[in-house]
Amino acid sequence: MVKLAYFDADVVTPEEIFMAAGFTPYRLLGDPTIDHDKVNEHVPPTHCVWAKNILEQAIKGLNPEIKGVITSHGCDCTNREFDIWVESVDINFLFYLNVPLKRDRIAFNFFLNDLKELISQIEDKFKIKIQSEKITEAIKLNNKIRKMLKEISEYRNKMILKGSEFHELVKLTQTEEKEKILNILKKRLMELENKAPFTEEKMKRILLTGSIIDDTEFLVFLEEKGFQVVTDDLCIGSRYFWNIIEEDKNPIEAIAKYHLSKPLYSTKMPSYDRFEFLKFLAEKYKVDGIVNIAMKFCEPMLYDHPYMKKKFKELEIPYIFIEMLYNREQYKQLSTRFEAFAEMI
Ligand code: SF4
Repeated sequence: MVKLAYFDADVVTPEEIFMAAGFTPYRLLGDPTIDHDKVNEHVPPTHCVWAKNILEQAIKGLNPEIKGVITSHGCDCTNREFDIWVESVDINFLFYLNVPLKRDRIAFNFFLNDLKELISQIEDKFKIKIQSEKITEAIKLNNKIRKMLKEISEYRNKMILKGSEFHELVKLTQTEEKEKILNILKKRLMELENKAPFTEEKMKRILLTGSIIDDTEFLVFLEEKGFQVVTDDLCIGSRYFWNIIEEDKNPIEAIAKYHLSKPLYSTKMPSYDRFEFLKFLAEKYKVDGIVNIAMKFCEPMLYDHPYMKKKFKELEIPYIFIEMLYNREQYKQLSTRFEAFAEMI
C-alpha cells in the first residue's frame, strides 16, 4: 500500500485528492507508549504533547510506505512545527496546506487556490495526472463511508456499540484503504442490527470533546469508570463524517465548500460557534455530562474552556475539563477526578 500521510490538528485534509492520485490517505496518529528522546532539542518545553509525539516519530523515521506528508493549517503549534519538519524529518514530499481560519467567500477562494497548488505539486513530484473524474469517484466512495459511519455511530447511543469500539473504527477509516473499509463497515452494520444492548446497568452518557484524542485506551479507561461516549465532536469522530461532499459539483470546489462548512473546531474562527454544535449534540443525545479533554499545552482548548464552562453551566449540563499528558500512566492518575464526576452526574 502506497500512502500519503497527513498531519492534521483538525480533520480538514482532502483525502479524496490523495485517493485520486493513487495513494491511500493515512492520518498520522500519536503513540502514547514511546519515549521522547529526539524531539526535545527542536521544540520548547511548552509544546503541545500530542504534536510533539508525532514529531518524535517522524524524526525517528516514518513507515516507508508513506511517500509524503501534508500538514494542514491547524493551531499555531502545528503550523510552526511544519518548519521543524522541513529541517529535521527525512521525507520525500512535504506540503503545507493553508486551510483558512475564516469561512467567507475570500477564504473559500483562497482555499481553492491552495487545493489546486496541492494537486499541482503532487502531480509534479510523483509524475502523475490527477483526473477530475477520479476525484469525483473518491468523493462518492468517501461519502458512502461517512454515511455508514454516521449510521454506526448511533449504536453508541443505543448502548449497543461501545464508544471505544467506534473510536477504533474511525481510526481504521482514517488509516486504511477505503474500499477495504467500506466492506468492514458494511459487515459491522449488519452485526449491529442484530445485537442486543451490552448492558442493563446505568452507564453515564457523555459527550466527549476537546483536543485530538487518538488513543482508544483512553475511551476504554472512561468505560471502566462507568462512562459511555454516546456522542462526540472529535476529529476522530463526528467531525469526520457529520457532513458529506456534494457529488454533482466541480469536485475541487465541492471539497473546499465541505471543509469550510463542517462542524467548527477551536482552531478556526469564530471559535465560539463550536459551542452551538456541542449544545446541539448534548441535547439531541440527552447526555448526562460533557467531558472536555485538552492535551497538555493545547492553547485552543485552554482558551475555549472558560466559555464552555460558562455556557454549559447556563444549560445546567454537568461539565468537566481535564488537561492531560500524552501517556497512559496519566489515565490512572486521573481516576479520582473521573470517579468524582461520575458520582456527581
Ligand atoms: S492538541 Fe491542541 S495544540 Fe495540539 S495539535 Fe491539536 S489543536 Fe494543536
